[in-house]
Amino acid sequence: MPDSSPTVLLSTADIQARIAALAAEISAGYPAGEDLHLVAILKGAFLFLGDLIRAMDRPVTIDFMAVSSYAKGTTSSGEVRMIKDLDSGLEGRNVIIVEDIVDTGLTLAYLQEILHARSPKTLRTACLLSKPSRRKVEVKVEYVGFTIEDRFVVGYGLDYAERYRNLPYIGVLNE
Ligand code: 5GP
Repeated sequence: MPDSSPTVLLSTADIQARIAALAAEISAGYPAGEDLHLVAILKGAFLFLGDLIRAMDRPVTIDFMAVSSYAKGTTSSGEVRMIKDLDSGLEGRNVIIVEDIVDTGLTLAYLQEILHARSPKTLRTACLLSKPSRRKVEVKVEYVGFTIEDRFVVGYGLDYAERYRNLPYIGVLNE
């Protein structure tokens, strides 16, 4: 992999402006006075969660879950494994899954199924990025930051071999 900086696809300003709008949209979608419980999927969504909750002016609680998906060859197997479960239950809560990027949709389909089974009051999903052309399964995503082309992106929490998560922007690796 190259050492040159990734080419900017979405700048820090683009990301922050979109997250402010997304936070307002999410806040407006629930009755006043009800807490929102945001479940971020590690590791990629940690920066998105941090900026999203700081842009929300209503009570929120947070929790984290980690999963890993296995790719076999160049095709995703659809096998998803839980690495870290949540610290608390979801029953009766307004739960929002906070995900970095929806690609094939397999990871999100798994997450929605297992979290739905825990009887939340409501269950919605917010993802920063979506690559609709790559979908293998239809998944419902109520809040999408940006729809992007089929490019492998890094930065703002997203990695390549655990690098680049600290970039303040989203970029594409140069060949
Ligand atoms: P899916 O199950 O939707 O195919 O995959 C979702 C996961 O694959 C994301 O949470 C992310 O970890 C990873 N992923 C998918 N596309 C990209 C990408 O363009 N860049 C990076 N860094 N990770 C990606």
